Amino acid sequence: MAESLAIHGGPKVKTTPFGTGKRFGEEELKELREALEQDTLFYHYGEKVKGFLKKFNEMYGVRYSVAASSGTAAIHVALGAAGVTAGDEVITSPITDQGTVIGILYQNAIPVFADVLPDTYNLDPASIEARITKRTKAIVAVHLAGNPCDMDAIMAIARKHRLKVIEDCAQSYMSVYKGRLVGTIGDYGCFSTNDFKHISTGDGGMVTVNSGDEQDYAIVHAFADKNYERFDTKVSRDIHHLAPNYRMTELQGAVGIAQLDKLAWICDTRKAYGAMLTEGLAGTPGIVPPAVTEDSESTYWFYLFRLDTNLLNATVDAFVAALNAEGIPCIRGYIPQPVYLQPMFQKKEAYPGTNYPFSLSDVSYERGICPNAEAVLQTSVRMGISEFYTPDDIRDMATAIRKVAAFFRKAEES
Ligand SMILES: *Cc1c(COP(=O)(O)O)cnc(C)c1O
Repeated sequence: MAESLAIHGGPKVKTTPFGTGKRFGEEELKELREALEQDTLFYHYGEKVKGFLKKFNEMYGVRYSVAASSGTAAIHVALGAAGVTAGDEVITSPITDQGTVIGILYQNAIPVFADVLPDTYNLDPASIEARITKRTKAIVAVHLAGNPCDMDAIMAIARKHRLKVIEDCAQSYMSVYKGRLVGTIGDYGCFSTNDFKHISTGDGGMVTVNSGDEQDYAIVHAFADKNYERFDTKVSRDIHHLAPNYRMTELQGAVGIAQLDKLAWICDTRKAYGAMLTEGLAGTPGIVPPAVTEDSESTYWFYLFRLDTNLLNATVDAFVAALNAEGIPCIRGYIPQPVYLQPMFQKKEAYPGTNYPFSLSDVSYERGICPNAEAVLQTSVRMGISEFYTPDDIRDMATAIRKVAAFFRKAEES
């Protein structure tokens, strides 16, 4: 007999509060005080943004990176530096944050969505290759929820077709693919320090310059700063092409220095908790835990598992409601629908009153273009993972999922 569900008046699985903790403390305050005492908050005059990037570069083993005002800004900067311009196509994942595509459209380029793999939810290299056209200029590979994309396959396709590769690492700090940190494999790696990411500076972002080339670095650096070339005491304000002001302030840099000291612990804890949850769910009929890419380590920004509704007498919404009643917060999917089903893409209208730049391409955003992505979002449950949770919290999450799955399990046919 299956146990009585809490949603039906039975006992709840989760009877103790989830672990909590403070992300900011004396370390951040000390850095902020020093930033203010410099009497400048401008990154080029102060030492905090520089110190933040120096530390980040050491952690990532890269020679150069550039700070930006957000993850969205970091991706736009990388696209600009990659030479993405009006009429180009950029291939990316339909399961991502809007921030992945905003820079593409601001460059008047056209986002093209490739399908994902059904088990890792990351870009399927075969689908990327199938969507390459004469217009394709770059690939933005989104490492979803801390799980690395299949970078060997993506880099091979990019080399074959001479495309730039930008890694969207907003959700994947310290994630490892075949012994390498994601964000150091493509041409550029983009990170976000918005308040919901592994580390926070309120808002902010970084772009790694993986060529290690000084000229490449100068281009990335300028694109985040109105195309001013600001090196040492020389400043060139000759503007040949358009670029935004996406500068990071000294206050963000200061908080970032202290946050980077916590990053390894945050990522190690999340890595362990994600693996523990997957282990706790193994062999549960109807539950499909997320697959980590081969030879990779995920740092679990969130935990998205799928339901096999052939084995369960429940809709995803009913499953989520039952889990919530057990005291386990979760929601259906990650985003409600693939990015291309948003009205902006359905109407092909990014700038009000015009279909430009979509009109330059015959790209399709019809329902059905990425069937795996649509199915993943319709059949998945998203659980938050926090470094402040305790191992008991993770055990309770797994127990509750197994309890709800057992209740809804279809009778075996004989
Ligand atoms: C958060 C996020 C972004 C955008 O970062 P912001 O700092 O919010 O602009 C881009 N891509 C992905 C995958 C994200 O999760």
